[in-house]
Amino acid sequence: MAGILLSQLIGQPDAQAFLRHTVASARYANAYLFHGPSGVGKGTAAIAFARALLCNTRGSLAHGGLFDAVPAMAPAGPPDDACGVCSACTKTESLQHPDLKFLFPVSGEEKELDVTVSETIEAWRVDPLFVFTYDKAASIRISLTRDLLRELAFKPYEAVRRVVVVRDSDRMREDQYSAMLKSIEEPGASTMWVLTTSRLARLPATIRSRCQRVRFAPFAEALVSDFLQSRAGAEPAAARMLAALSGGSLARALTLRDAQPLELRNQALTMLDPATRGDGPGLWRAITSFNRFGRAGRESLRRLIEFQELWLRDLLRARYGAARESLVNRDRESEIRRQAATVEATEIRRRLMALEEALRAIEGNITPDLALFSALMRVADPAFETRAWPAHAAGRWRY
Ligand SMILES: [Zn+2]
Repeated sequence: MAGILLSQLIGQPDAQAFLRHTVASARYANAYLFHGPSGVGKGTAAIAFARALLCNTRGSLAHGGLFDAVPAMAPAGPPDDACGVCSACTKTESLQHPDLKFLFPVSGEEKELDVTVSETIEAWRVDPLFVFTYDKAASIRISLTRDLLRELAFKPYEAVRRVVVVRDSDRMREDQYSAMLKSIEEPGASTMWVLTTSRLARLPATIRSRCQRVRFAPFAEALVSDFLQSRAGAEPAAARMLAALSGGSLARALTLRDAQPLELRNQALTMLDPATRGDGPGLWRAITSFNRFGRAGRESLRRLIEFQELWLRDLLRARYGAARESLVNRDRESEIRRQAATVEATEIRRRLMALEEALRAIEGNITPDLALFSALMRVADPAFETRAWPAHAAGRWRY
């Protein structure tokens, strides 16, 4: 995704307009902080912004002096974006520009760090659908920031400024933030920082207050669905379902697409059916025939319940006379209409609440199949009053 330009960013009109205006005005802050939910294009935008700043049309040491903002010989290009064709743009496209530094969280052994970093960058460069994923321990490594800070003492190599992009910058240590802060506060600094985070509150207040903030919003569901169909080759029905589950995060939708959403949805409905009829033995058979509660048990369970919720939401929409286009499971529209005709909206909402409670409860220490069974039996039992549950109900459900 390194080749993206600011003009090609999707789904973030406000952030995009702000960044293009910033580039056109050539009045820069020392540091920018892109914040918002994960998977909405902050990292892609950060690189596109960096490319625009390093593009030769903004001036370079090769073309003019350090103090010429726009040298007379600068090649023509858009005033608010990278040109995409100059020598600087070619280098930033492959992340080979000496004045572009790109840091992101990494986990694993220190001695394998170089390999891990270069493999990740290579995967990201060749796969336009690459998603950065981190385990709990992943962090911006000290050794990498130490090397970087040493370099900051020198002038940029080719461009009039150096741009440091730090993805998920909330994964740093206190002393790294202090060193960064020193650089940000340096007057007339030739380094510009572009930080991203989906966990704004985890960044020290000192960093937050010294950065120009740029807010990124969750993507619209339709945009995620369209993207999955046009760029990731997803079937329309699967794309709609993934988009509905994504919470506006393209990264989450892309991560989920390997999970065969249609198959999982059908499995979820196979369980929901005996549950709504109060058929305990049938429900137990459906659950025990599902053999995906392996190591990722809780995650599979959560997803199953989310699919069941999507179905119940469709029933609600159908009861309110929604058109086909607004149904997530529209490939099974006739079934939705038939079921919706036989159950009251209040009852559908009660079932949704039982599933919501189940989602919260599966965090508790209970085996996934038992948790699912008891949750789905609650769906069947109209006498069951979700509000009466204690907060830590997971271990105390009756089976
Ligand atoms: Zn250029």
